[in-house]
Amino acid sequence: MARRAVLVLCDSLRRDLITPEVAPTLSGLAHDFADYVRSRSVFPSTTRTASASISTGCWPLSHGLLGNTMALDEGEGLVCRNAGFPDFRGRMRRATGRTLHRPALAERLQGRGGAILVSNASPGAAHFQDPDAFGTLHHRSGSWAPGGAPLAAGDTIVTEAGMAGDRLATRYFCDEVVRGSRPGLATLWLSEPDKTGHKVALGSPAHREAIAHADACVAEVLAAIAAEEARGEEIIAVFMADHGMETTIDTIPLTEMLVAEGLKAALDSTEIVVAPNGSAGTIYASADGWAKLDRVQAFIAAQLWCGRLIPQGELTEHGLPSDGRIGFAFAMRHDPARNEHGVSGHTDILEDPEKDTIYTGFGQHGGLGPNEQAPFLFVRSAGHRGRGPVDRPAGIVDAAPTILEFLALSHEGCDGRPLR
Ligand SMILES: [Zn+2]
Repeated sequence: MARRAVLVLCDSLRRDLITPEVAPTLSGLAHDFADYVRSRSVFPSTTRTASASISTGCWPLSHGLLGNTMALDEGEGLVCRNAGFPDFRGRMRRATGRTLHRPALAERLQGRGGAILVSNASPGAAHFQDPDAFGTLHHRSGSWAPGGAPLAAGDTIVTEAGMAGDRLATRYFCDEVVRGSRPGLATLWLSEPDKTGHKVALGSPAHREAIAHADACVAEVLAAIAAEEARGEEIIAVFMADHGMETTIDTIPLTEMLVAEGLKAALDSTEIVVAPNGSAGTIYASADGWAKLDRVQAFIAAQLWCGRLIPQGELTEHGLPSDGRIGFAFAMRHDPARNEHGVSGHTDILEDPEKDTIYTGFGQHGGLGPNEQAPFLFVRSAGHRGRGPVDRPAGIVDAAPTILEFLALSHEGCDGRPLR
């Protein structure tokens, strides 16, 4: 009997918000599955970066997607680009010669049962699960078959981000993928509680409802897995989040501040470029900007909102390249205070000139705060003896090697390690 893998993502769900009242199914999994209580995200803890790290089992320095935004030089100097835009993968390929620098699970599963992804997340998060179309993707931005040919409308499903769309995507995933096509890897990426968490206070009734909806989706997938196991299938089940969230205090217009200080020539100048990543930032410098970099770094380090400044030489320790691609990075200061719903953790965030969304009082992520770095991670398989809390270093980069090992495939080239 061939072994199979089922991977389910609840976007942004931090582990301390999984309670028996709101999320009874996930709370039960914390006992029935191995519960990696020290699971970490990556830095920046943004969805697209995390998606690439989950699909490749690698840190950003290895797979090359260095944030939800990153600066690319396409021949006209450094420009900050948003990894969520549909043309971004093409831009990455043109600037660096390829999309991600390490193979994603979908590529590794070729000829071994293949990979099918049903994603209700943003296009960027969906695409970095399978950036070069080795598997099948179901997503509202355009579904594809292996090789990238578009799927006909009758062969896919279109869902909108949010609770109702997550429920539809889950039903399709259970009926058509887990119990239908039975691929080597079946992945479901739910948009909640991320979508709601960015628009309401963490722990508010609306946020708890979104968590409860995600929990109900998890229950449906568990039932589908149980039905397959009853047929004798051997399945590894990995249920996880990509990152958590903190409550936003204020939004810092860093690019404007650098221009006002004379540290950057203009808002759109290319010598010093800020790549905002929620509660984290990466600073890029061209050859012209390099001489200013020390002064820019000193200016940011002196700000009250700056929690942790990571100079270029220390970037590798945080999973980012120290080879000069990034000048330096920083994470915003973490404030452990609780919000009005008793949910701990506050942070400032960086202004993103491409977005006018206000996050103050609502959830955001990207940095190194203890809650944004506390995604849940539950694993269960026939060969997996662990049950309940497992107190060892673990993280989202370990999901891919864990799945590959169960499927008796090589995990060479993964930075993460199989969880056993
Ligand atoms: Zn996310």
